[in-house]
Amino acid sequence: MKPASDGADPAANEATAPKKLFIKSFGCQMNVYDATRMADVLAPEGYQETAQPEEADLIVLNTCHIRERAAEKVFSELGKLRQLKQERAGLGQETRIAVAGCVAQAEGAEILRKQRAVDLVVGPQNYHRLPDLVRQSFNAPVVDTDFPVEDKFDHLTAPSEAKIRERGVAAFLTVQEGCDKFCTFCVVPYTRGAEVSRPVARIVAEAEVLARAGVREITLLGQNVDAYHGLGEDGENWTLAQLLRRLARIEGVARLRFTTSHPNDMTDDLIEAFADLPALMPFLHLPVQSGSDAILQAMNRRHSAEDYVRLIEKIRKARPDLALSSDFIVGFPGETEADVQATLDLIAEVGFASTFSFKYSPRPGTPGAELADQVDEAVKTERLYRLQALVEAQRQAFNAAMVGRVTPVLFEKLGRHAGQVAGKSPYLQPVQVEGGAELIGREAPVEIVRCGSNSLFGRLAAPETVGAA
Ligand code: SAM
Ligand code: SF4
Repeated sequence: MKPASDGADPAANEATAPKKLFIKSFGCQMNVYDATRMADVLAPEGYQETAQPEEADLIVLNTCHIRERAAEKVFSELGKLRQLKQERAGLGQETRIAVAGCVAQAEGAEILRKQRAVDLVVGPQNYHRLPDLVRQSFNAPVVDTDFPVEDKFDHLTAPSEAKIRERGVAAFLTVQEGCDKFCTFCVVPYTRGAEVSRPVARIVAEAEVLARAGVREITLLGQNVDAYHGLGEDGENWTLAQLLRRLARIEGVARLRFTTSHPNDMTDDLIEAFADLPALMPFLHLPVQSGSDAILQAMNRRHSAEDYVRLIEKIRKARPDLALSSDFIVGFPGETEADVQATLDLIAEVGFASTFSFKYSPRPGTPGAELADQVDEAVKTERLYRLQALVEAQRQAFNAAMVGRVTPVLFEKLGRHAGQVAGKSPYLQPVQVEGGAELIGREAPVEIVRCGSNSLFGRLAAPETVGAA
């Protein structure tokens, strides 16, 4: 990190004058959450969020390094921003450009070399220092990618009630960060660092602030969230199930979710929570990546396909209305046709309501990238196409099966068309009904009458009909 100079500081006079901030996030939900916290930490400095990069005094690209394509997008975006910075300079307006997130962590000072328009590079563990870093960047470009001793969450500013209301009735809350699993394809243990769980008291305090400002649904985030083991209110380490039960007691919290989980950390007490904690939604994202034992082993996933299938059976026994989503990677080094078939078989056996699937992308520094038997790109494309055809058919069948059923919907915002209001089912399906703004923030039973390609359409139903087919 470069120290601020003693000379005149052009930023100092304007410390709290209104300035505009534009943040663009790439990648996962944790980046979406991080973007809100960056905006919160910059708000006391006078930065107000804008959706227009053209009017922003500070532009933050909150980046993702998980696949090569995600990282490449950042540099093409930076090229456009360089031009914007020049245009604004022509009008006498100064623009700071910051690169945050996992590309910042992985590439550090290299980013300044590749794109000179960048003023500041900040890793995911350091964004509580953003106000200082922005000030320093007026003197010289700054890079801060240390893994600091202090916990960034202890130094972040809480959002105002007005800001929380503006962000809506469903919120993310990071409870755990980093990962110690070291799957051989994945950069997360390198970019986000070792697994750390936040203390229960801090999480409860954050959730209470959210609930008081009208948030009804909280999704707990962690790279490996079911491995959560934070300091509990009794001085012992608590599991994720204990944390969920505590959060369910907060007035106003109607729905809880958590993501992303690893199959090996789905403990019995977490499975029990699905059985007897009504606020915990019956929808679980549980990545399996592959249905082939040979590939799972090469990926260092430390479970077999059979283990995964048995685990799903156990969770479904606890919560018969549970639906699943998962992540799949095709084309991991050494993957054969038989391995692909094993993955398709697993998908057919388990049945998924939704999925994310990717072509394997070799990431520098990960063991997978060093393997000799990399799969040809065209072969990966063809395999992904086949896998996606199967999971898309399952998704459509799952959505179509909702028609005629009554399901609780949490209304989040006005719909696309006048007189419509939009919400989410327990399975995160978007649902549109005829109605007005008074429904926003309420959970109400809806009879599903029609299924579109991405949304369900329904009408308000009587409360006692929930679950009726
Ligand atoms: N922690 C989660 C887990 O255990 O599966 C997932 C975290 S990762 C941010 C999200 C997904 O990106 C992974 O589940 C995997 O499917 C995909 N992914 C990660 N590294 C990848 C790579 N090198 N190439 C393709 N997909 C990748
Ligand atoms: Fe990456 Fe998830 Fe594996 Fe951790 S458990 S290394 S985050 S894929």
